[in-house]
Amino acid sequence: MPVIRAVLGLAAGLALGAALAAWIAAGQAAGPTLEVVQPGEFIGRTASFVATAETPGAEFLTLTAHIEQEGGVHPLFSLDDPASAALEQETDDRLRISRTFDRESHPGLAEGPARIVVAASRPVLFGMRESGSEIAVDVTVRLTPPRLTPLSTLHYVTHGGSEIVVYRVTPGDVESGVRVGGREYPGYPASGAGIEDRDDLRVAFFALLHDQDLGTPIQLYARDPAGNEGTADFAHRIFERQFRRSRIPVSDGFLRRVVPGIVAGSPELAGETADGSTEPSELLRLYLLINGQLRESNRGTLAGLAAETATRLLWSGPFRQLANSQVESGFADHRTYFHDGDEIDQQVHLGFDLASTANAPVRAANGGTVIFAEYLGIFGRCVVIDHGMGLQSLYAHLSSIDVTPGMAVERDQQLGLSGQTGLAGGDHLHFAMLLQGRPVTPMEWWDEHWIEDRVLRKLRAAAGETASR
Ligand SMILES: [Zn+2]
Repeated sequence: MPVIRAVLGLAAGLALGAALAAWIAAGQAAGPTLEVVQPGEFIGRTASFVATAETPGAEFLTLTAHIEQEGGVHPLFSLDDPASAALEQETDDRLRISRTFDRESHPGLAEGPARIVVAASRPVLFGMRESGSEIAVDVTVRLTPPRLTPLSTLHYVTHGGSEIVVYRVTPGDVESGVRVGGREYPGYPASGAGIEDRDDLRVAFFALLHDQDLGTPIQLYARDPAGNEGTADFAHRIFERQFRRSRIPVSDGFLRRVVPGIVAGSPELAGETADGSTEPSELLRLYLLINGQLRESNRGTLAGLAAETATRLLWSGPFRQLANSQVESGFADHRTYFHDGDEIDQQVHLGFDLASTANAPVRAANGGTVIFAEYLGIFGRCVVIDHGMGLQSLYAHLSSIDVTPGMAVERDQQLGLSGQTGLAGGDHLHFAMLLQGRPVTPMEWWDEHWIEDRVLRKLRAAAGETASR
C-alpha cells in the first residue's frame, strides 16, 4: 500500500521536521536576563556585590558570579553554594543576589583592573535543552585609602563658632573635609582661596555647633569612589562659651498680629486658617505649630541652600554688622516662652536680633551671591547670601527686598529694608551666619582680628609655603 506508506512517511517527516524546528528554536531561546547592580566602577577594601537574574518562574539550572583578574578567578556566588550570598526572590521570575566581600574573603584581589562576570542558564523544551547568558562588567580594584596631612596649625574652636583648616589630600579624586561628630564639612580646592598651583591642597571651614558636646571628636576625613576612607587628626583646642537664657512673653495682641500672615504665607500650614476673628486659644495652637514644626521646616529649607555654595571665597575682610544697631538677642540664646504666665514652649535662637530704626536699610555683610530672596515662614521676607565654601549669611523679617537670586552683591550693597514680617515682635533685623546650612555665631565673622588670626593668616601661610617650595 504505497499510498498509505507515503502518507505515513510524510507524517513522520513532518513530525521530525517540527521536532527539529522546536529543537533549534529552543537553542535560540533567550537565556536569563542578568544585571550587576553593585559595584559600579570601583571595588574598595570592602565592597558590595548585588546582581539580579530573571527567568520565567525563576527556574535556573545554573547561576554563578565571580571576579576575574589577570587570569585568576575569585568566586562571589554559585547556586551550588547558595550560602555564599544572600538570595532573595524579588518577583515570581527574579532573584536578587547580594553579599559583601573584603580583603579577608578575597585576599587574592589586587589593585588594578578586574572584571565581574555573572552567568546563568535556564531549562527550555521541557528540560531537554538549556539556554544560557552571561554579562561582564569592568571594574577597578582600589585598596589604598586616601592619605591626609594637616598643613595649618593653631586651630581654636569656640563652642558655636567656626574655624578653618588647610590640608593635603591624595589622590585627587576623593571627597574630603572635616568631620565634627556626625556632621561633615567638605573641603574645597585651595585655588578657591587664592592658593595657586597646589592641586593637592584643600580648605575646609568647620564648626562645633551650639548643641554639640565640647568633647565631640573633630577629624579630617577623605573617601574615594571605591568607598575607602582615610582619617587624620589635627591639633585643635576647644573653648567654652556661655549661652544666655531668656524669657519671652507671648501676648494675644502679638498672636493676632503675626499668626494669620504666617499661616497664609506658609504652604506647610495649608488647611489651617486664621484671621482677625480667630479665638485666642486657636491662635495659640497655631503659634505653637509655627514656633515648632514650621521653624523646623524653615530651617530645613535654609540648610538645603548649602548645596548651592560656590567653591571659592566670594568675600574679603570682616563681615559688617547692621549700622547703628543695638543687639536685642544673641546667638544660641535659650528661650522659654510664656503666655498668660504659663510656660508654653522652648526654642534656641540661632541668630542675632539687631534693632535700628524702622525700615532701616539692610546691607550685605560681605561680598557674595544672592541665593534666596522670598518669604519664608517664621523668617518673613528673607534674603540669603552665599559667600562661598559653605558660608552664607541670612537677613530676616524684612519689610521689602531689593535683590533677586543669582545677583552678585558687594559688601554694604542694599538688600532691602528692615521690618517685622514673620515671627517678629517689632521692626528688627534677624541676622544669622550659616556654615554648610548650620547656624554659627556671627560674632567671629564681624571681628576683624578673628578674621585675620583664624582665617587669613592660615591661608597666607599655606600660600607662602607653596611659594617657597
Ligand atoms: Zn531673631
